[in-house]
Amino acid sequence: MKTLEFYRNLPEKECRECGCKINEQHESYLYECEHCMNKHEE
Ligand SMILES: [Zn+2]
Repeated sequence: MKTLEFYRNLPEKECRECGCKINEQHESYLYECEHCMNKHEE
């Protein structure tokens, strides 16, 4: 499989808290968007 096709087939990650799309620039192990992660820090 070509690398380009592999990335194209990846499902878009969604925040498990609010369901919004997670920016792919974030680390791949994140399951929550920036907004929800900030809430946990309070
Ligand atoms: Zn969220």
